[in-house]
Amino acid sequence: MINIVMFGPPGAGKGTQAKLLSDKYGFVYIATGDMFRRHIREQTELGRLAQSYIDRGDLVPDEITIDMIREVIAESPEAEGYIFDGFPRTRVQAKVLDDFLENKGDRVDAVFALEVPEEVLIRRILNRGKTSGRKDDTDVDTIKVRLEKYKTATRPLKDYYREKGVLYEIDGLRSIEDIHAEISEIIDGLRNGNGR
Ligand code: AMP
Repeated sequence: MINIVMFGPPGAGKGTQAKLLSDKYGFVYIATGDMFRRHIREQTELGRLAQSYIDRGDLVPDEITIDMIREVIAESPEAEGYIFDGFPRTRVQAKVLDDFLENKGDRVDAVFALEVPEEVLIRRILNRGKTSGRKDDTDVDTIKVRLEKYKTATRPLKDYYREKGVLYEIDGLRSIEDIHAEISEIIDGLRNGNGR
């Protein structure tokens, strides 16, 4: 079993890469942002709780996020491996994920941190906003809050994963295909037992 975390600021390309990898390797794809948006669309209680945070670019509180992720993981006990997109985003979430995987004798095997400069991120998100139907992709102030939350709450997790020896920093400015090829090569190495 191989467990992957796609890491990086909003607009870095996490979702694009995660979907390609999930198709290629059959990992169960878990994107917390997509899950929240589905709850909001279906007007569930969880969606109602999460919406105001998402609309202003804030992080949804850990308890809500963790409850949701536990539920979805419980639905796929036979998974060959997971690929997480947009999770974990806080230290508490990272610890919960470690504990969960440890209980099954597993761990986070690789964290791919996509590196993209801020001005490019803003351009990409605004561009995505033209078709994504996401309110949080169209307003520059909300985008700036999201980038700020990334810097303060999420980015420090890079040190956490670096210390564990599982962090791979990836230049996110290259083509989708080139990035996919680089990440695939690392995953193939891990599958063949050539991990760090
Ligand atoms: P994303 O689709 O990953 O850009 O997520 C959209 C929004 O959902 C974020 O701006 C947060 O408000 C919320 N969200 C997604 N994942 C998480 C998470 N792991 N922890 C807290 N909030 C999250």
